[in-house]
Order: sequence, then C-alpha cells, then structure tokens
Amino acid sequence: MLCLGIEGTAHTFGVGIVSSKGEVVANASKTYVPERGGIHPREAARFHAANARTVLDEALREADVSLDEIDLVAFSQGPGLGPALRTAATAARALAVWLDIPILGVNHCIAHVEIGRLTEGARDPVTLYVSGGNTQVIAFDAGRYRVFGETLDIPVGNCLDVFAREVGIPHPGGPNVERLARDGKHYIPLPYVVKGMDLSFSGLMTEAVRKHRAGADLRDLCFSLQETAFAALVEVTERAVAHTEKKEVMLTGGVAANKRLKEMLRLMASEHKSKFFAPPMKLSVDNGAMISWAGILAYKHGVRHRLEETVVKQRWRTDEVDVVWR
Ligand code: AMP
Ligand code: MG
Repeated sequence: MLCLGIEGTAHTFGVGIVSSKGEVVANASKTYVPERGGIHPREAARFHAANARTVLDEALREADVSLDEIDLVAFSQGPGLGPALRTAATAARALAVWLDIPILGVNHCIAHVEIGRLTEGARDPVTLYVSGGNTQVIAFDAGRYRVFGETLDIPVGNCLDVFAREVGIPHPGGPNVERLARDGKHYIPLPYVVKGMDLSFSGLMTEAVRKHRAGADLRDLCFSLQETAFAALVEVTERAVAHTEKKEVMLTGGVAANKRLKEMLRLMASEHKSKFFAPPMKLSVDNGAMISWAGILAYKHGVRHRLEETVVKQRWRTDEVDVVWR
C-alpha cells in the first residue's frame, strides 16, 4: 500500500510517498520565504496553491509511481495557519475524490514523532519538538501523546527568527544566529523563564533585542540567547525524562538543525543513560513523508475519515489524538 501525504501547516508545502512497510519513496517540498517580516498566512496559502502541482509531480517522479498507484491520501489537518492548512486539505480532498481513495487527516506534531520512530528506530522516546511554529516536549502515556511541557507564548524558532530580524541578521535567522554564536565569548545574562514544566521565550527575545540596542556585542548576544533558550528547553526535557523514566530522547523540528542544542540534549540524555535520536534534517523539518507515515499508521489501525471530517483544526493539540496504533 502506498500513501501520499501532504504537508501544509506553515511555510512548507510538502508531498511525501511512503509504503505501508515504512519505505520513504518520495519526499518533495517547496518552502515559502517571505520577502520581509514573518509568514503571512494568506501569502503562504497562495504559495502552496501555486506550487502544489510542481511538488506533487516531483514526488511522483522521485517515487517512480503514477497517481493511480496511490492507495491513500493523508494530509496535515492541524495545528497550523488556517489558510495554509485549508489549501493543503483542499489538495488532499481533490486527489482523494478524483482517485476515489480514502483520505485521512493527521496531527502534524504527532507525525514529527512518528517519522523519527520509523527511521531512527526509537521506540518510546521523550521528544523535544522545536520549530518555527511549535515548541513541545512530547511523550507517550496511556494511549496518547502527552505534552509534558510547551511554550506559553512564542516558539523557540520564532524567538531566534524575530531576534535576528530585529537586529538586522539576514534570513534565515536560526542558522545565522548559530553561526554568530560560535564566535561569542561572554555570557550576557538574559531572562531564563521556566514556569513549572512550561517555557516562555517572548521576554527573552525582547530583552536580547533591547541589549543589542544598548550596544551589546552581537556575537555575545547570539551566544547568550542560544545558551539561555536551549538550557530552558533541556531543563524541561530532562524533567520529563526523569518523571517518565523513558530511556530514549529524541530531538526534531527545524531548530534541531542547531548543533549546540543537539550537543546539550545529547549530553543530558547520556547523563540519564538514555539513547539519543535525531532524524536527518529532511525528515526533521516539515515534510510530506511524515504525514504519509502517520496516515499509514492510523489507517492500518482502522482510523477512517469521511470527507466532512476533514475540516482543518488550527489549534489541534497533540494530546487530543487517540493513538490507536500504539
Ligand atoms: P520548521 O518550522 O520546522 O520548518 O523550522 C524552521 C525553524 O527552524 C526556523 O525558526 C529556523 O530559524 C529554525 N532553524 C533552522 N536551522 C536552525 C539552526 N541551525 N539553529 C537554530 N534554529 C534553526
Ligand atoms: Mg513542524
């Protein structure tokens, strides 16, 4: 069985094709880059609509299959930006109706975890999922993926991106902050906010920008911003590991590209005698393959959606999904 998965929660439009045996046979995507400022949801949706056909064709070519060999269509039903989600859902519905095959909406955050379990061989990890749109510590317990900690305001990727933009670091923010941080020498104290198991990054971002305007060295600031934000992420993940006693830690999402964060999390995992996993970046950023695989898991375990049930869910929480496949 082949599942075609469509990702479109934010700036990336992705089409992946995965077999029911778990072979990723295609994973194509295009990413919308705003001319200036952050993502405008309607612009992202327009981008998805304009590029859907090209990305679909690329995925089919990569997999060397034709549309009539596809048995199931899955799509990212949420959480995400409304207009972007609706565009991906519309593409998925059109395909399912045209091909007369089943359609399944999947949770984007859960898909990130499941693709890591598939390709990295993690069985039951505590996952730190960090991206431009999400920041969550996720672990499976009693039939659901539970959120052990999450940001109370902006995601950590957004914190890095907005900081970069405000201080004139060119796009892409995250990678450029990382590059500058390598030459940082002095730690500049910044607000470290962990509330219970939750995180907050907006005060940190504002204060880092303020310190830049007050003349602080940019490399030191990038270094300090990373150290502060990542230490908070690792603290919360560590407590989730200690509480759940799970022996695996996984890092995923766009910010997982950051070598310093990876190093810190890997160290924490080893101190807890836990194995550390990080999927390759093409499966760690938003992608269609993870949506396909999450679709296959649900479908194989009897989940079915009628067309009327494919309405997008902008605020669909990770812990609202009954994980019948585990
Ligand atoms: P995603 O939302 O998963 O597509 O990932 C995009 C986010 O990852 C953006 O906020 C980027 O700034 C961030 N990102 C990408 N590479 C890095 C990096 N090397 N260090 C920190 N953040 C990064
Ligand atoms: Mg994502």
